[in-house]
Amino acid sequence: MTKNNPQQTALAMPAQNGQPVLHPDRPLSRGAKCSRCRAQAEIHLPSHHANFCPDCFLHFVRTAVVRGLKEMKFRPRPLLVAVSGGKDSLAVWDLLHYLGYETKGLHINLGIPDFSEASSRAVAAFASVRDLDWAEYSLQEVFGYSIPQVQRLLRGKTCSLCGQLKRALCNRLTIKEGFDTLVTGHNLDDEASRLLGNLVGKRLEHVHKQYPYLPSPHPRIPAKLKPLYRLEIKELLAYCQLRAITPVQETCSFARGATSRTFLQALEFLEGSMPGTKRSFLFAYLRDTKLKEQLGSWLDTHEQEEPSAEPEPKDGYGMCQECREPAYGQRCGICKLRERLQKKERIAPA
Ligand code: SF4
Repeated sequence: MTKNNPQQTALAMPAQNGQPVLHPDRPLSRGAKCSRCRAQAEIHLPSHHANFCPDCFLHFVRTAVVRGLKEMKFRPRPLLVAVSGGKDSLAVWDLLHYLGYETKGLHINLGIPDFSEASSRAVAAFASVRDLDWAEYSLQEVFGYSIPQVQRLLRGKTCSLCGQLKRALCNRLTIKEGFDTLVTGHNLDDEASRLLGNLVGKRLEHVHKQYPYLPSPHPRIPAKLKPLYRLEIKELLAYCQLRAITPVQETCSFARGATSRTFLQALEFLEGSMPGTKRSFLFAYLRDTKLKEQLGSWLDTHEQEEPSAEPEPKDGYGMCQECREPAYGQRCGICKLRERLQKKERIAPA
């Protein structure tokens, strides 16, 4: 584990256009005190009933990550960070690097005009300032089709297919890059809205998969870590401003109103009159003792294992007869999706 870093003090500077204000419509008055050091406060966190000056806010964010990792009983090791170029993935990379973890970035270029080039540039700029290592893979090269091609051939569910591809390929590329743990930038808002969606849809079997640390269930599937699960979107936006992190500004041309957004809006509505609701809703489930017991035995059985070069059938997993990656049936989801695309292409060539 490398202890770093010479850049961290220089980067901890105020945003160029003034201090970040979490509620621009309700800026803090002169004389508002930081809850930690009593200096002038700049940032208001209603769900914590606290105000912070910029330095204490950074301390608050880092403490949230450290506390989360401690609660997960995460044992430090090198981490591959999935970076899209958005604020969450860049923030989590920055935080882990600051905290001394050995990290490498993983970016999948989806081939979406303008958006993918801009995302790639955002990752490159971030990594270059901090002298961080990262790898970029083209979806077209590793899977055979870019997202615009997937959209043209299958239409309709582009985001869900894109999500499926990113999840599966990030798993495979993590192992290929020689890591056993994949970090993602999921934040408290993502997790709370996903939990609400799972409960509304009565997908209770998915709830346990929301734990912020999931050990590897198979030698060729990495463990998953979500260090930002205690931090809200607004807190991460302020963190990026203070750390001079510039996420991609372009939006994906395939973005549509996802249902998770509707669940998040419902939670925001509750949060407006009862600050802290999102947080207590999510943590009530994460701290559920039965859920923890289930996970505890799972953690105990999986935690000691190291990834091996050869896939072995385990926990219901077989091996895809085409690509030899883990699969529940004879073929994995990625090979099945590729075949569907190939069939469509034969019917409707470009
Ligand atoms: Fe993929 Fe949809 Fe996100 Fe675009 S908006 S990057 S298609 S998941």
